[in-house]
Amino acid sequence: MSVEIAVNNSEDALYYEPQNNEVELFSHAYKHQLPVLIKGPTGCGKTRFIAAMAEKLNRPLYTVSCHDDLTAADLVGRHLIGPEGTYWQDGPLTRAVREGGICYLDEVVEARKDTTVVLHPLADDRRVLPIERTGEYLEAAPGFMLVVSYNPGYQSLIKGMKPSTRQRFVAMKFDYPTPEVETRIVMKESGADKSLAEQLVRLGGALRNLKDHDLEEAASTRLLIYAAKLVVGGIDVRQACYAAMAEPLSDDDATVAALKNVIDACV
Ligand code: ADP
Repeated sequence: MSVEIAVNNSEDALYYEPQNNEVELFSHAYKHQLPVLIKGPTGCGKTRFIAAMAEKLNRPLYTVSCHDDLTAADLVGRHLIGPEGTYWQDGPLTRAVREGGICYLDEVVEARKDTTVVLHPLADDRRVLPIERTGEYLEAAPGFMLVVSYNPGYQSLIKGMKPSTRQRFVAMKFDYPTPEVETRIVMKESGADKSLAEQLVRLGGALRNLKDHDLEEAASTRLLIYAAKLVVGGIDVRQACYAAMAEPLSDDDATVAALKNVIDACV
């Protein structure tokens, strides 16, 4: 089965700069009702991409940031007590299933395995959500799409996604954009001029190449935008880069000093 695509290409659409063929791939996955898994480092555009695709495909979007206390009830729903007694409240996953929306689970590997098990019958061709508490066996509305993301860089081996879960998804790999694309993003998102954006993107590249230090995360596109916004707001370039691209990346003094050295050499 496939669903019709009513594309919304309005002028004031959420800004998204494609990195590759991800827009086309995602549209096809949506059309054929396939769930999507997006891997990539933090701050490289995964969330913006999903938001832009939900808008383009005219689907409501339910985003859940996963963490290790997230329970299946947080996704599916629970009984609550109100003035007229108990009533059932759908969780974000159930709402997306009923309404034919996109449910986006960010950092899904953070969620406990018993939580992600509820995704299984939704992520294969059954497309159903059994709700134990209400006895409902909910068939997903045609536009429903399950999207999960994680950062393969900083998960421990134990935390990786179970093969039985990951094998249900069409997977897409994201990375930091090329310098040309990243320059356009920094300009558009911060109001920086081209030469400042180029300078920050070059610096971002140099910081990402700093291999000797134990950095869990590299300088992301998000951090380049933060630095650019500080500079546009009147902060000195070097200070802005320290605050946005060195201090947030590590608490280790030697590592922060090494990052600052690279910044000093670039700006
Ligand atoms: P992630 O979900 O991968 O952690 P985000 O989607 O939140 O990252 O991206 C961080 C910020 O970087 C966004 O808010 C947006 O300003 C910018 N950004 C990154 N990639 C793009 C892109 N391809 N097009 C437009 N903006 C982008």
